[in-house]
Amino acid sequence: MPRTVPSSWLSGSAHSTDGPEHQVVNPATDEVVATMRLATAADVDVAMAQARAAQPAWGGLTPAERSGVLAELARRIEGATDELVADEVAQTGKTTRLATEFDVPGAVDTTAFFAGAARLLEGKATAEYSADHTSSIRREPVGVVGTVTPWNYPLGMAIWKVMPALAAGCAVMLKPAEITPLTSLTLARLATEAGVPDGVFGVLTGTGPEVGAAIAGHRAADVVTFTGSTAVGRQVMAAAAARGTRVQLELGGKAPFVVFADADLDAAVHGAVAGALINSGQDCTAATRAIVAPSLHDDFVAGVAELMAAVRVGDPTDPDTDMGPVVSHRHRDKIAGMVDRAAAAGARIVAGGVVPDGPGAFYPPTLIDGVDEQSEIYRDEVFGPVLTVSTFDGEDDALRRANDTDYGLAASAWTRDVFLAQRASREIHAGCVWINDHIPIISEMPHGGFGASGFGKDMSAYSLEEYLSIKHVMSDITGVAAKEWHRAVFTLPDR
Ligand code: NAD
Repeated sequence: MPRTVPSSWLSGSAHSTDGPEHQVVNPATDEVVATMRLATAADVDVAMAQARAAQPAWGGLTPAERSGVLAELARRIEGATDELVADEVAQTGKTTRLATEFDVPGAVDTTAFFAGAARLLEGKATAEYSADHTSSIRREPVGVVGTVTPWNYPLGMAIWKVMPALAAGCAVMLKPAEITPLTSLTLARLATEAGVPDGVFGVLTGTGPEVGAAIAGHRAADVVTFTGSTAVGRQVMAAAAARGTRVQLELGGKAPFVVFADADLDAAVHGAVAGALINSGQDCTAATRAIVAPSLHDDFVAGVAELMAAVRVGDPTDPDTDMGPVVSHRHRDKIAGMVDRAAAAGARIVAGGVVPDGPGAFYPPTLIDGVDEQSEIYRDEVFGPVLTVSTFDGEDDALRRANDTDYGLAASAWTRDVFLAQRASREIHAGCVWINDHIPIISEMPHGGFGASGFGKDMSAYSLEEYLSIKHVMSDITGVAAKEWHRAVFTLPDR
């Protein structure tokens, strides 16, 4: 029996409005998990006014006080692991194993990290950079943050946006993807229980074109942060630009996976399958384009196909299942369409590529060889369990191919040559380059892209910059009325 969930969590409690009726569907079973009424643009006005009113007191707390609340929130997220895992699995179809070992511990760790980072507002030393003045830097919360998140890691993406904003002293209104709102609503409840003051962090469900767009263009938003597709990110940027509002965008990716001739083939095969299939391939940093030395190509393709065949696809709640469905039938249709068009254009489907019978939005691990490098399967984001393979002709060509994309979020290079590894990490145009691995992330290090993958950072102390304004305070230390520099404006006869 589906449960009913509220449209929003605002000012410390659940709210329901008369917005459109909506069902949250489990993509593994096609069953309705929850019903709700979505929030509306009118709710955004209420939420943003609450955030505006609540932010000064939160921003006025000491870093240690904000840190204490976030540390308590980290403990409460950990304490709610079972509830969060169950909802994350039900609304996305990701495996219980992934949610238990990756999503929720990651959410706890990132929240704990920002509890610490809240106390580390670093800047230039207060000093006399001019002989007559003392200069100091204040880092002040930007104010109210409007944020919009995607469906692939609903809890994780919310945490990445919300925690640095709260640590910096901002108030945040979050709109999760409408198909996966459950864990964001729970997060807001846990935040209230942990002591985040009413109005400082709220969640509004709602559609992108209505509620997301209303947040992006809202007069009360001092910064708009967004994680999602490049196309929608540009709409968000346009809405924010109309008001001159700051934006931070974490967008799509098309990560190259470059295997040089001296690579450990076994490691590259394992890395490719894990990197391509994590979260059913619905990961913005997922390995999507294997670019492989000709001497390794055949063994690489055979090894990846063999390992993909061993991946158990099925009920995500079964601990033996390796991969669940993709997030929806609509999304599966998009993936299948791209693979089918690649096959029709002459690419070789080595593994997968066929939609299975039965309920659920399942799509098999898919390996495609011989792709045209101008084709959509090679250039556009598939966001599913699909890896293409192509070869290169020498180091320069490998790096050229890696960079032959509008995106620049993540990449990996596989080699045992330390000098080549250094050159590859310098030459590849992406916000993250892994050497001999692909996917791991850590809270201390920044995540964010170049080019069509957006700009600005999530995670790490760098992300605090998105939520802080830097103020220079310059104080005269001479007490002299007629200062030397006034001569540039006027000269008095007796001086
Ligand atoms: P999406 O762009 O379709 O939607 C993202 C969010 O934007 C959703 O909440 C949606 O409701 C909202 N939205 C839709 N139209 C809007 C509008 N006009 N104005 C404001 N908001 C609007 O993305 P998705 O399908 O939910 O997620 C998948 C995408 O997210 C992929 O492209 C993936 O690469 C990207 N992603 C990027 C990162 C990163 O860190 N770079 C992380 C995760 C996902």
